[in-house]
Amino acid sequence: MLSIDADRLVADLQELGQIGRSKGGGLDRSSFSTADTEARQWYMSRCAEAGLAVKIDGIGNMIVCSPNVSAEVASRPAVWSGSHIDTVPSGGQFDGALGAVAALECLRRIHEEGIALNRPVCVAVYSDEEGNFSSLLGSSALVRGYSRDELDAMIGRDGDHFVDTFEAAGGDIDAATRTRIASGSLHATVELHIEQGPFLEQLGHQIGIVTGIVGMGGGVVTFRGRSDHAGTTPMAVRRDALVAAGAFLASCPSLATSTSSRAVVTCGLISVEPASANVVPGVARVTIDFRDPDADRMVTLETKIIDTARSIAEEHHLDVDFDFERTIQPAPLDAKIQGMIEGNAKARGLVASRLSSAAGHDSQNMALVAPTGMIFVPSIGGRSHCPEESTSWADVENGANVLLDTIIQLAT
Ligand SMILES: [Zn+2]
Repeated sequence: MLSIDADRLVADLQELGQIGRSKGGGLDRSSFSTADTEARQWYMSRCAEAGLAVKIDGIGNMIVCSPNVSAEVASRPAVWSGSHIDTVPSGGQFDGALGAVAALECLRRIHEEGIALNRPVCVAVYSDEEGNFSSLLGSSALVRGYSRDELDAMIGRDGDHFVDTFEAAGGDIDAATRTRIASGSLHATVELHIEQGPFLEQLGHQIGIVTGIVGMGGGVVTFRGRSDHAGTTPMAVRRDALVAAGAFLASCPSLATSTSSRAVVTCGLISVEPASANVVPGVARVTIDFRDPDADRMVTLETKIIDTARSIAEEHHLDVDFDFERTIQPAPLDAKIQGMIEGNAKARGLVASRLSSAAGHDSQNMALVAPTGMIFVPSIGGRSHCPEESTSWADVENGANVLLDTIIQLAT
């Protein structure tokens, strides 16, 4: 049975895990930042060493395809595998990196062994999975594309404009509007990822077969009142935007729990204007991220969030407006690929269980254009999006081997 080179895979993950490491121990590789660019260059150099050419599309997705295939095979719909190498601020070294590096390792092994393919195998490293500028930016660009107006309106976590940051990182903004993948060009996609939750570890199982991925929505809610003197303005006449935003945020947990046991609502970012300790806030902006595995409940949840914000704004004599991104729909994953992952895990003596993903992934976009599967491996303590995020090297190796088996099965 062909297997991945575990030592090489581990060494690669450890090397990539040093790029963008901050003093606090976490990784800061926001998309198109200096550290993200350095990580991309490192990845491309690893591809070059393996004799693999990297193509970069208009939005910065890196695509690496199997060399040495005949023109006939190259013309067939491809099997894609990949993930992302950007991180959240102070993130961990496995989220995304595992799937991006393991897919490269699989392609290297296929190349080294000269395995005869019926279809091209390509590795995809998607831009800005973590939504610095827009949720699942790179894969969204592939499946739906962005207009110039949409790109112009994107602002990153640090307040920077996408256009400026993207161009500074070497991107071409006109090319970024021409990224949609040709229909029928993909046969299937499969992604390896850490679970980012505690389920597999609690069960003592090595492989997760992902049945579906949660829907994701949200954006910015802005409460607009009036800024006033913090000493001289009586409480009764204030139009304090932050007090209203606070009341709204306090209601969010019950908006989720009253929708479903799987619904979640999060505010991760607050900003106020004018932002001074002795001034009543005139403007308060809060980000809202809401998720549920069911498409109808996503609509219900969004309606509840908007209605609640409106009624709280009215109560406080404020205006409120919403700048929500297009909702990314929940995605059921392909049953046939789930069966392949199950069989491949079993053949390697690994225990697998089915689970759904409460985290968003590029695979939910790719599932719109091709049969798509996802393989999870356990996260120690269920921790992710933090410096403590970790997965045992044995689980890394197991997951990468099941990925290799599944890619070969799909492509031969
Ligand atoms: Zn990820």
